[in-house]
Amino acid sequence: MRLDRFLANLPHLSHQQARQLLAAGRVRVDGQSVRDGLYPIRVFHQVQLDEQILQTGKPARYLMLHKPRGCVSATSDPLHPTVLELVADEADRADLHIAGRLDFNTTGLMLITNDGLWSRRATLPASRMGKVYRVETEDPIDPACVEHFARGLYFRFEDLTTLPAELELLGPRLARLTLHEGRYHQVKRMFGHFGNKVTALHRESIGAVRLDPLLEPGEYRALSPEEIGQF
Ligand code: URA
Repeated sequence: MRLDRFLANLPHLSHQQARQLLAAGRVRVDGQSVRDGLYPIRVFHQVQLDEQILQTGKPARYLMLHKPRGCVSATSDPLHPTVLELVADEADRADLHIAGRLDFNTTGLMLITNDGLWSRRATLPASRMGKVYRVETEDPIDPACVEHFARGLYFRFEDLTTLPAELELLGPRLARLTLHEGRYHQVKRMFGHFGNKVTALHRESIGAVRLDPLLEPGEYRALSPEEIGQF
């Protein structure tokens, strides 16, 4: 909400008083004086009028989780454990959501937050942020896939061609794949296009944020300010 509306919505302030307080520099957001009524106020901001706290500001939370196999990227599931149950000890668990899903048996980097704007930026298709996966397959990977993936594959169901993706062969049945979008079961479908089955899939990174190698499957930690700033 705009700062001028936030102020004018307070029971004891009119629009005119809100404008005057802003012009006088008496309103502070996270400790800084703000005179611009258009300034966007979020639940995470602390807002003050002189020394009076108008809104305390809820802590914004950003976590990276090493997703294990056999859990669902959902808030609740009648049959299986969910990713959010792994952060059940967090006091504000009910406010947390997942930024970018992984399949049931896919492992690796998941981002969890209570900041909807941030998670939208982290998952925005237009950002074309690279997501890197380590892929193991049932059959040997045809080296021609490198060229095919780079050109893009046609997905009939969505009637679209996938964006250029970089495939690096690491062994006969092992590869690293960088995608710049996130279509439904995309990695499995890309290999499936060539009759090959993905037997293990692990997300190593999203943009510049890499899964911390110290995290065992099921473990998580808070993101550093630098990691938060990537999105
Ligand atoms: N592609 C898939 O097929 N599965 C995932 O979990 C992520 C990308």
